[in-house]
Amino acid sequence: MSGYRTHLLFYSTVAFITQWILATLHMQKGTLTDLTAIAIGAAYTLLPDIDAPHSKAKSAAWKTLSATAVLTFIGYAMTKDGTMKTICAASAITLCIMMLLRHRGALHSSLFAVILAAPIAIISPYHALWALLGYETHLLLDGTLSN
Ligand SMILES: [Zn+2]
Repeated sequence: MSGYRTHLLFYSTVAFITQWILATLHMQKGTLTDLTAIAIGAAYTLLPDIDAPHSKAKSAAWKTLSATAVLTFIGYAMTKDGTMKTICAASAITLCIMMLLRHRGALHSSLFAVILAAPIAIISPYHALWALLGYETHLLLDGTLSN
C-alpha cells in the first residue's frame, strides 16, 4: 500500500516532467495558472484514498465535513437560511456515504476520476486535465505497487 507521501512524490515527478514537456512545446499557461493547476492535481492525487480507513485524505475530509455539518446546522438553527440547511444535509449525506466506501472500490476507478474532475472542467478544462493527471497517477501507482 502506497502512503500519501509516495503518491505526492510520484505525482510531483510526473508533474515536473509534464511541465518540462509543456515548456519545451511553449504550451505553458503562465506561472499562476500552472501553479494552481499543479496544486489541484496534488489534491486529486490524494483524493482516491478517502475510502482508506486510516488515510490522511479521509481524516481531512472527515474533519472538514463534520465541522461543516455542525457549523451549518448551528447557522440554520439561528437564521433559518435554506442554503445552510442544504449544505448541512449534503455534508451529512457525504459523511454517511464515506462510511459505506470500501477501500480501493469505486473511488479507485477512472470513471470517478472523470466524475470528480468534471466540475473543474466547467471553470477551466486545463485545471481539470491536471486534476485527472493527479487522480490517474494515484491509480497507476496503486495498481503497479500493490498488486
Ligand atoms: Zn489508493
